[in-house]
Amino acid sequence: MRSLALKGRPRRLFPLRFGWEPITESVSLKGGSPDRYLLEPVTGAAIVFDQGWVLVDTGFNIDTIHDDEQRRDHYVIPCYTALVPRGDPLVDQLRTLGLGWDDLAACVVSHLHCDHSGGLRHLVDGPPVLIQGAELDFAMSTATLQDAYFRSDFDLPGLDWELVEGDEELADGLQLLPTRGHTPGHTSVVVELQDSGTTVLACDAADLRANIEKRIPPGTTTSLGWRLLPRIPSTVFTTSTLRRGRRFGPATTPHSGTRGSCFLVPTHRSLGGSMAVPGLRGVHHVGITVPDIEEATDFFVEVLGCQLVHSLAPMMADDDFMAIQLDVHPRAVLSAIRLLRCGSGSNLELFEFESPDQRTETIGNADIGSAHLAFQVEDMASALEYLDARGVEILGDPQFVTEGPSTGVTWIYVRAPWGLQLELISYPEPMAYEADADVVLWSPSKPAG
Ligand SMILES: [Zn+2]
Repeated sequence: MRSLALKGRPRRLFPLRFGWEPITESVSLKGGSPDRYLLEPVTGAAIVFDQGWVLVDTGFNIDTIHDDEQRRDHYVIPCYTALVPRGDPLVDQLRTLGLGWDDLAACVVSHLHCDHSGGLRHLVDGPPVLIQGAELDFAMSTATLQDAYFRSDFDLPGLDWELVEGDEELADGLQLLPTRGHTPGHTSVVVELQDSGTTVLACDAADLRANIEKRIPPGTTTSLGWRLLPRIPSTVFTTSTLRRGRRFGPATTPHSGTRGSCFLVPTHRSLGGSMAVPGLRGVHHVGITVPDIEEATDFFVEVLGCQLVHSLAPMMADDDFMAIQLDVHPRAVLSAIRLLRCGSGSNLELFEFESPDQRTETIGNADIGSAHLAFQVEDMASALEYLDARGVEILGDPQFVTEGPSTGVTWIYVRAPWGLQLELISYPEPMAYEADADVVLWSPSKPAG
């Protein structure tokens, strides 16, 4: 194993998006249309360990794109161009994620195409840059602008190249998987995350969901590597196809029934059909009034693992504002407001009120106005074991549904310390009704599906 400045194991995987590029379907899919352009995202990832993190791919060189002359000199492939957001998407996303360059233990470059190597300039005199030997050799000796290799992006003094030959475990839970074909030394990256299992970052070995699901190879390259991808029980991130405005994220869709099968970023399905209210997209958050904001935050963050995103200032008024706007007692004080993100599902908004007419009894599940929050889990047994160990009250036993549309679901109720009922639901396989349904229920395991 290499001595990288990492401690522990991979804990979080953050997908990064550096921009988009128009690619004909025939490039991404053998037999695809040479006239149909897909706006494909240019992606990378940050893998965060207990200590230190690893960057996978670096996107475009923004300076080249913003300089007309440089752009003209470099982007010489007909109809190929780069679309980038404002700013420097690599630097900006890392800042947003709170990932510091000083903690970067290594950068893995899947290959040296211009949409993967443009940020290497940030790594001069920095940590090791890991690459398959065959890729660096090809890039330095043979590749040209016509191959979409921009030598000025990667032939930089001060880059600390470390060559990898084939399959190699770089650190606990981090492995390189050679997937040559797209380029002579393309590599994919295998990440073992404690909570969500193995994820393969396919990089450019597979562009579209169909490459994996339908076993159709990419189109123009002799991409041998893509064949390897689905054989690993894992989640696979492909480049995927994003329509304008679609978000690249750990959106996953099971492509076959077995647990540990491949999961992919959805591609051709459009996001969120039109709803009756113009522009309505779906549930943004669920608001819950709790008796003690600290207790509730502790429960959702420390026990369930939601993330506290921010708190809002208290709300109160001397006039009728509270009564008019929120339909509460005019002297009610909304003393604490916290916004939480819970995985890839709906956000939560926690309220703590002080109000002269506040009712403090917890209402039961059968009472009008009661609500329960249902959290989807991948493995019911380990979820219950975890909650039980933390003293969470579990109601009854897990119920496995064997009849009707929900066949395949396991459910159980648990209770938060202040009485709020929560449900855990799990269905590693699609529910029975999904086989011939036009619309399937939204699931946080495939949030863009
Ligand atoms: Zn490429």
